[in-house]
Amino acid sequence: MDHWIDNAYTEGVEPNIERADVTNPATGVTTGQVVMAGQATVDQAVASAKAAFPAWRDTSLSKRTQILFRYRELLNERKEELAALITAEHGKVLDDALGEVNRGLEVVEFACGMPNLLKGGYTENASTNVDVHSKRQPLGPVAIISPFNFPAMVPMWFFPVAIAAGNTVVIKPSEKDPSAVNWEAELWKEAGLPDGVFNVVHGGKPAVDALLEHDDIKAVSFVGSTPIAKYVYETATAHGKRVQALGGAKNHMLVLPDADLDMVADNAINAGFGSAGERCMAISALVAVGDIADELVEKIAERARNLRTGDGTRGTDMGPLVTSEHRDKVAGYIDAGEREGATVVVDGRDGDFDADGNGYFVGPTLFDHVTPEMTIYKEEIFGPVLSVLRVDTYEEGLELSNANPYGNGTAIFTNDGGAARRFENEVEVGMIGINVPIPVPMAYYSFGGWKNSLFGDTHAHGAEGVHFFTRGKAVTTRWSDPSHGGINLGFPQNQ
Ligand code: NAD
Repeated sequence: MDHWIDNAYTEGVEPNIERADVTNPATGVTTGQVVMAGQATVDQAVASAKAAFPAWRDTSLSKRTQILFRYRELLNERKEELAALITAEHGKVLDDALGEVNRGLEVVEFACGMPNLLKGGYTENASTNVDVHSKRQPLGPVAIISPFNFPAMVPMWFFPVAIAAGNTVVIKPSEKDPSAVNWEAELWKEAGLPDGVFNVVHGGKPAVDALLEHDDIKAVSFVGSTPIAKYVYETATAHGKRVQALGGAKNHMLVLPDADLDMVADNAINAGFGSAGERCMAISALVAVGDIADELVEKIAERARNLRTGDGTRGTDMGPLVTSEHRDKVAGYIDAGEREGATVVVDGRDGDFDADGNGYFVGPTLFDHVTPEMTIYKEEIFGPVLSVLRVDTYEEGLELSNANPYGNGTAIFTNDGGAARRFENEVEVGMIGINVPIPVPMAYYSFGGWKNSLFGDTHAHGAEGVHFFTRGKAVTTRWSDPSHGGINLGFPQNQ
């Protein structure tokens, strides 16, 4: 897989081109190699984005939007192709991959409304014969750096909005599953996007660093783990850029004693084990309030044991983890949970997996009697491991969540509207579900967490996304007015 610069594939311009293997995690087979950019190739991509910017900024909103609509149509027609690419390199099951594409598509649809979103304000006669208007303008070339776990959707949280607003883009996808973004790049070309507006560089830290430090990159949108998000935020802001860096998560589900426990068990399974737990909105800590835990754990365990784990092209419920290293890391967390005294109710370390070859599987794993000191509670596992913690009261459960350094998503399950309303008010988390386990906001709202789940102020897409990819201007106007007042060195005052 090559880079994509100026609407064409290129191996880049490094004298010694490095490549990294890309594997199918369901079989362990190497399916390709991705080129890894250094400074020189990043410079070339940014130069392309910089050269394309003036003409793209000056392309009418109407013409820009027509390309967006065309992109939307093509993506909708061919989304199964993209879903298959995701499954082949990420491992998530096919219908989950399709779900990811559909959620990305919603952001494209949101960005199709850019003419409305970019409308400014106008005040007539703010002072005598003086009018004021405001507008928002694009920034220039912007960088997007995305994680492996949503190879198609996370880039689409940003680039439709950036492009529709008149910016040009250099994106560096995860080197673990790079094909989805190349596919998206080809689709842009087909939709009529001019050369240089959307560029892709592949690589790892050297490519990221080159983007973070590049004078011509005006903004950075990053999604990935917390340590790298913090590093990206600190480095890019030190280089004068606007940054939104979304980090890791440890999402809690608070279950009150009045909740419907069958509904809770179904939702805990979906949110804990969907995409093998490799979602930043996955539930990893279920906090059971009162005396419901025994019954609830039994219901979840029964469902977990019936899940089919295997190759995502075979109609299974859950696919593999992304790499063998990540598989070993997740299995290591399960070892640690057992060692530190949690009860292993369902053990995913050994299992009968529906796949050929040597895929990177861990089955659904359920722990009970987890306590806040345990490693499996403290760290982001990013695998199919659900921990149940037991507390006596709502307050204890809330305190647990609020003491956690992450604040991405959370959910409360209850039939008590008052308790839910109180939770919504008191919990220190950016995205909240009330009887909804994975509360991913719609494209016209904004996606983002609090605390160590977001560095920067601005969430993705929605109004905040439009704000991130534009900057404001206020214009004060007076035309042929004889009452301008002549020479006056005082500060302008309204009359
Ligand atoms: P990661 O942090 O390892 O990688 C993210 C990106 O950063 C990749 O493009 C990678 O190439 C690059 N990168 C990796 N190491 C780097 C380094 N040392 N310096 C500079 N760049 C580096 O994350 P991942 O494993 O790809 O994705 C999983 C993580 O992303 C999880 O922590 C998950 O919670 C998080 N995530 C968060 C959200 C959110 O919205 N908050 C969404 C999706 C994923």
